[in-house]
Amino acid sequence: MIYADNAATTKMSPAAVDAVLKCMNDCWGNPSSLYEHGQKAKEMLENARDRIAACLDCSPREILFTSGGSEADNQAILSAASFGAKKGKKHIISTAFEHHAVLHTLDKLRREGFEVTLLDVHSDGIVTPQQVEEAIRDDTCLVTIMYANNEIGTIEPIKDIGAVCRRKGVLFHTDAVQAVGHVPVSVREQNIDMLSLSAHKFHGPKGIGVLYAKKGVRLEPLINGGAQERGKRAGTENVPAIAGMAAALEEACRNIDKDAGKVSALRDRLIEGLDNIPYSELNGSRESRLPGNVNFCFEGIEGESLLLLLDDKGICASSGSACTSGSLDPSHVLLAIGRPHEVAHGSLRLTIDAQTTAEDVEYIIRSVSEVVSYLRGMSPFWRDLMTGKRIHVFKE
Ligand SMILES: *Cc1c(COP(=O)(O)O)cnc(C)c1O
Repeated sequence: MIYADNAATTKMSPAAVDAVLKCMNDCWGNPSSLYEHGQKAKEMLENARDRIAACLDCSPREILFTSGGSEADNQAILSAASFGAKKGKKHIISTAFEHHAVLHTLDKLRREGFEVTLLDVHSDGIVTPQQVEEAIRDDTCLVTIMYANNEIGTIEPIKDIGAVCRRKGVLFHTDAVQAVGHVPVSVREQNIDMLSLSAHKFHGPKGIGVLYAKKGVRLEPLINGGAQERGKRAGTENVPAIAGMAAALEEACRNIDKDAGKVSALRDRLIEGLDNIPYSELNGSRESRLPGNVNFCFEGIEGESLLLLLDDKGICASSGSACTSGSLDPSHVLLAIGRPHEVAHGSLRLTIDAQTTAEDVEYIIRSVSEVVSYLRGMSPFWRDLMTGKRIHVFKE
């Protein structure tokens, strides 16, 4: 089995599993309790906070534990909107290709009377600082732009976008769920006011994440109750998951240069191999790209059929066509970069990691090439393309 779907989730690292188990056995108390069991858990909690803060280049007091990336995105956006509205600022800037945790939160705000500008991401999947600057108005309370896209892997010019926001006095949030642990991130150097991350995208446990909020940036609780997390998130902390997240993040950050170098070389070989398939195109920028992300569109192919046949060959991958989510619409990300519907349905996302080998990559290239020719051979749509009844979108 070759696992090439690391953007969906990652396997926990042995160090993260150890940290979770150790914490479940040794510091199972409630961190809010005064006796020794509680204090041990409290120590573990604060120790994890310190280590995570060091990885992100911020202060531990700026780290809020959440149930994952989605919650962090919701809290960042809803807080900025709520405090913005109190000052009469009800305009938010984002992009058309954000994760649904951001887009659906913005939809909710739109229904409540906020105005949302979704910037165009161009055909390479990049938003420019100039676009952001031009969109900022006097009543803009937040700019939220993802650090790296979960489907096409493009890395956005976060530091420069942050600089524009800072100059204009507008809060800047970034969904960095795909970036943290994979590319170096420094909230201080990159002018980031709020950042979301999720442990299960860097070999940590699921159901745990962080919202970083710069000192002075106000947060509103989404969950009300006890005074945990300095009143910003009620509920007894998931200390074992937090310990696992800290272990996974430290390990990822320690190895980041080595792993990114190795993984991006494999990624480039995979791109080169799949580029040889006729009527195919890489989605997203070739240069400004996550080390492990490969995303192609193949003309005349249904993404779902491709995935099923690859599964038969022992390859776990993903497609932008959203049948899994119960809708027949193609990926909003591929439409945002201007792919027409018919090719957006035929996309394939392969997300590899440091466990992937050169042999795996060659096997994937061979398998995808075979499956694409096989499916095209059976497709009436493809026959129309070959006989000229339909016009090709891509060049051969
Ligand atoms: C996975 C993901 C999320 C959601 O994170 P969860 O921890 O699963 O809630 C949000 N944004 C991006 C870009 C993601 O890839």
